[in-house]
Amino acid sequence: MLPKFVSVIAKTKDEALSWLSSLENPKIMAGGTDLMVKMRVGKAYSHVIDVAGIPELLGVSESDGGISIGAAMTHARLSAEGSVVRNARSLSLACGLVGSPQIRNMGTIGGNLANASPAADSIPPLLIHDAVLTLESKEAHRKVPLQEAIVAPYATSIDGKELIASIEISPLRGYREGYRRVAKRAAWAISRLGVAFAIREENGRFLDAKLAIGSCTPMPFRPKKVEDLLKGAVKNEATISEAIRMALEEIKLISGIRPSYAYKLPVLKGILEEVLRG
Ligand SMILES: Cc1cc2nc3c(=O)[nH]c(=O)nc-3n(C[C@H](O)[C@H](O)[C@H](O)COP(=O)(O)OP(=O)(O)OC[C@H]3O[C@@H](n4cnc5c(N)ncnc54)[C@H](O)[C@@H]3O)c2cc1C
Repeated sequence: MLPKFVSVIAKTKDEALSWLSSLENPKIMAGGTDLMVKMRVGKAYSHVIDVAGIPELLGVSESDGGISIGAAMTHARLSAEGSVVRNARSLSLACGLVGSPQIRNMGTIGGNLANASPAADSIPPLLIHDAVLTLESKEAHRKVPLQEAIVAPYATSIDGKELIASIEISPLRGYREGYRRVAKRAAWAISRLGVAFAIREENGRFLDAKLAIGSCTPMPFRPKKVEDLLKGAVKNEATISEAIRMALEEIKLISGIRPSYAYKLPVLKGILEEVLRG
């Protein structure tokens, strides 16, 4: 059973920010696909502020070489959004694989980030696109890189009075980009492994490689040493084997040895081989 709460529906961003600042113990809700699950098992808030229909939090725009994504965009809309499909293919693919059609039609990118699950499908693609969050409260605005916003599994540095208004990403053009996901089933299953990649190569060399791995460590991460190794390296089996060895090593350094690694690391090795060989 859900605890008792008052639900208010914000029609504008200013209205949501005023309520966030003035109400006692408020909580933002977008699609509710994470929040309602948590409230059913005991989390309680006096007021739930529904932000799903706020026009300023919807839509995707391109400007100054960047792409701004409204935080209340659903996974379903994002997966089909032209500028995301063209400039951030890994994100459109990841959004298209979240949960099930019902979850994709309700769940939003802002909710996925704020929930900060190690298995959140949108986070690895956003990491390779150097995503920056615009956070707003009644008093201030600030911009925070995504990797700084997530501080621990299911924990962010976003203040309870702040709203994610938008997410800015840098487009990647000329890259071979994608997202590979492993889950128990094709639908209604959380990712056991998620890999976002964007690779630029020419004449048998890697020019640039951006990788982000989710569901393996407490927080999705970019194996920067692997990316550095690949930059400018000859594309051959020796480079690829060394890159994979370093990636698996880094995971063990971050998390130690976990029982799930007996399954996950060989699967990750296979995904990275496929991704790097292209
Ligand atoms: C059956 C099922 C399957 C799922 N499968 C997947 C999956 O495959 N992959 C995956 O990544 N996730 C999955 N999820 C988790 C969930 O659907 C996603 O994390 C979704 O994106 C959450 O978005 P939401 O809008 O529903 O968030 P909500 O539940 O509305 O909110 C989640 C959290 O984010 C906060 N929040 C929401 N919007 C904002 C905002 N604009 N600013 C600040 N804080 C905000 C809320 O206060 C709350 O703390 C699944 C969930 C279910 C129930």
